[in-house]
Amino acid sequence: MGHSTIQTIRGAVTAESLGKILPHEHLFVDLRGPFVKGYAEADADHVVARMKPYLDELAARGVTAFVDCAPPGVGRNVQVLRSLAAATPIHIIAPTGVYKQGFIPASMLDLSVEALAELWVRELNVGMDGTDSRAGFIKVALSDEGPTDIEIRNLQAAALASRQTGAVVASHTIGENAIRREIDILERAGHNLKRFIWVHAHTVQDTAVHIDAAKRGAWIEFDAVGNDNWISQQVLLDRVVALIEAGYAAQLLLSHDAGWYDPAQPDGIPQPDGIKGYTALFDRFIPSMRDRGVTESIIDQMTITNPALAFARG
Ligand SMILES: [Zn+2]
Repeated sequence: MGHSTIQTIRGAVTAESLGKILPHEHLFVDLRGPFVKGYAEADADHVVARMKPYLDELAARGVTAFVDCAPPGVGRNVQVLRSLAAATPIHIIAPTGVYKQGFIPASMLDLSVEALAELWVRELNVGMDGTDSRAGFIKVALSDEGPTDIEIRNLQAAALASRQTGAVVASHTIGENAIRREIDILERAGHNLKRFIWVHAHTVQDTAVHIDAAKRGAWIEFDAVGNDNWISQQVLLDRVVALIEAGYAAQLLLSHDAGWYDPAQPDGIPQPDGIKGYTALFDRFIPSMRDRGVTESIIDQMTITNPALAFARG
């Protein structure tokens, strides 16, 4: 790795200074969306009190950076993230961008590709929401049926903002139809797919689809570690091992997509399952990879090197 920079809530860090990184988690999410009264509002001290124990568990496991994946539209709250970042040694990385149709704030609905990209470049290069905390990447999201017109606009803006900043684009993409259309749209917009993370890649069963995306340059993110409700951990392990055996360990990312503080609940605890922590990767999934013969160097590559390269601005 060269001397490349990752932008965190507390400021810039060099990618090579980091150890283990979780590339897709959540500290604070508001799935009610931006049109509901009280959206994304919470007492920052209460959020810190609730969530700090889960960050402490990660620090004890050698985690050095935590990518919070909630963009505007599903509760990004920069003041809350700044309070959390002040309370933990772990670097917190937050996105610019926007969530899928139905969750797009009014201020972003009518913008051109260029105007939206300009807004996101400002968050990447200057700061978010009037602070000096810069966004570390661009998060977008597609509807499950595939990109709608406004989501295509968002992808084109993400490609443009990425080209101007070097920031990676991470996109919530469910299923084979959506990923195929998305990759085509990004390539047509001139986007280098090495600067693209396929979020929720485990939602596609066919390893050939993962390999096709990887061949075109994409990061393949399996972010349901520890979440048996979403995918059996045995099946997830099989998919990860299949890609390693096919030669794509250098493009794999592993995370939980877990958490989080929910401001819609009086005590911040999401219903019905409560807050989910972020330790299954270290306590269960990595040991199960070792049992399948995955080497320590590949485990380090997937948990240290790959996320550092993916989020470095170059
Ligand atoms: Zn997520």
